[in-house]
Amino acid sequence: MKKQAERKKGMARLLELAFIKKGLSISACVLSVISVAASFSPYIAIYFIIRELITHFNDLSALNTAYMVKLAWIAAGGSGAAILFNWFALLCSHIAAFNILYKLKLDFMRHIAALPLGFHTASSTGKLRKIVDENIEKLEGFIAHQLPDLAGSAAAPISALTILFVFDWRMGLASFVPILASYALQATAFSSKPAKTFVTKYQDMLEEMNTAAVEYVRGVSVVKAFNQTIFSFRKFHETIVAYGKFVRSYTESFKTHFTLFLTIVHHVHIFLLPVIIFLVTPSGAVDYGNFAISSLFYIIYSFSLATPFVKMMYVAGNARQIADGVARMDAVLDSPPLLESTNPKTIREYPVSFENVTFSYNAETEQSALQGVSFTAKQGEITALVGPSGGGKSTIAHLIPRFYDVASGVIKIGGVDTRDMTTDYLSRIVSFVFQDIFLFKQSIADNILVGNKNASREEVIAAAEAAQCSEFIERLPNGYDTIIGANNTHLSGGERQRIVIARAILKNAPILVFDEATAFSDPENEYKIQSAFEKLIKDKTVVVIAHRLSTVRSANKILVIEKGRIIEEGDHKSLLARRGRYSRMWEQYNTALGWTLTREKKEENHV
Ligand code: ADP
Repeated sequence: MKKQAERKKGMARLLELAFIKKGLSISACVLSVISVAASFSPYIAIYFIIRELITHFNDLSALNTAYMVKLAWIAAGGSGAAILFNWFALLCSHIAAFNILYKLKLDFMRHIAALPLGFHTASSTGKLRKIVDENIEKLEGFIAHQLPDLAGSAAAPISALTILFVFDWRMGLASFVPILASYALQATAFSSKPAKTFVTKYQDMLEEMNTAAVEYVRGVSVVKAFNQTIFSFRKFHETIVAYGKFVRSYTESFKTHFTLFLTIVHHVHIFLLPVIIFLVTPSGAVDYGNFAISSLFYIIYSFSLATPFVKMMYVAGNARQIADGVARMDAVLDSPPLLESTNPKTIREYPVSFENVTFSYNAETEQSALQGVSFTAKQGEITALVGPSGGGKSTIAHLIPRFYDVASGVIKIGGVDTRDMTTDYLSRIVSFVFQDIFLFKQSIADNILVGNKNASREEVIAAAEAAQCSEFIERLPNGYDTIIGANNTHLSGGERQRIVIARAILKNAPILVFDEATAFSDPENEYKIQSAFEKLIKDKTVVVIAHRLSTVRSANKILVIEKGRIIEEGDHKSLLARRGRYSRMWEQYNTALGWTLTREKKEENHV
């Protein structure tokens, strides 16, 4: 995979992508150039016809009709050839475009699949969706349409210029100068600072709108439940309004330049006429016959100049936007995938150890989320992580299944660096149950089967029973075959977590990383999750982010994590005896618990 520094940018990158299918893209360009050249031939043929007419104006019988008919055929043939060559050019460019798009999408999907899991938690689905659905898709426009246009438009000025200066250089200059001036006008407008930052800002705003839209759709149920109006999704609304404002003000800023540009390129003859009048004055030595013919030619020809120049302008403008989209795709492609060991190892024992581990989510902008963390979680034991929010517990949990790679230090399982195992092997030996539960819109059985797709129906049911799920599953209309989310079958948070536990039981990996749910704390559910958890952890290496007293108390080892460091370590008793951070947390916890109980009692009395 190329590094960012080596990547081409802007138009150079677009052309690099377009020429992935070299043969087809080159053919498209060549055919397009021929088409443009052919499209000028009617003007020249008509010029010669008019010249013949004017030359023999006094004696029409002297007209060389055979010659004129030939010219008429050239004009008609030129127009036909222009259309035909353009058609073939577009055929080649479309085949090239769809093949390139297919390859890019495949490469992109392969790459995001190889990225560390942590990448997917950090970047929003809206952003990735936009890259695949829109940014890559827009390349089709560039390769299939604008590339041949670009080749044709680049050829157009060259042939146009040659033709312009062949007959009368003065009139050629009079036609050329306005076009040059209008281009200079556009160039100054495009190189202004707001124009330069526009494309990036524009894409940023589209991404924000996309993300907000995804959030909006996901949250619709909450809005309905709380009877909120659409404006409760202020963020979504605000991103749309901000986008509208931005685009309007940007468009307005271009109003004068663009109108002038279009006016000039479409009306070159207005600049040409005064020059013709000036040249025809008696002072200019003039052969009137030839002069009239040349003038006529330039006036007719000036109308054909606008199309390629306007096209070129649009190509330049669109290419900028497409190139920015491509740059966003490249940024994802440049995120390094997890390096796979060339000499992967396997293990027989499963203790997890952190040795002086330091890690930061963004090395350039943030201080370390973990600093010099060392501990061992033994097999057959529970290691509990506790501490204030933001301390680094989840970061430790995420590093074990290699959501990210450490900045320094090493994480070993069974004495082997996790980077020396294949990611596939690592994912087989580590199960993780985190709070952001994701269930597929598939049957309950299929969702449990994610843990081990080769398991039998009986094993699925056994896992569900062990995870305390069977009771609620059997109540569902189609039992294990009920599709989650369909026909109003929605599961509670606790039920969802128990399904994920059933998945983990079925997977039966020797290491379990578990984030206890804080959200589903009704006593019955808590008791059930606890029983499921106990079945799950038997003989395993368990690292748990503990929120429950029962877990903390039964843990063999407790690590108190604060500001990315382990500040205390030991079992419940020894830590209480130390009278340090843990014992203070414990006291606070008990006070809070006491407060809840007392309040509940009072309320009961009240009733
Ligand atoms: P805890 O689980 O103890 O609440 P975390 O491990 O989630 O703590 O967070 C530790 C630090 O890392 C915090 O400062 C948090 O803001 C930061 N952090 C956590 N996740 C990310 C992420 N995906 N990107 C950037 N920073 C993060």
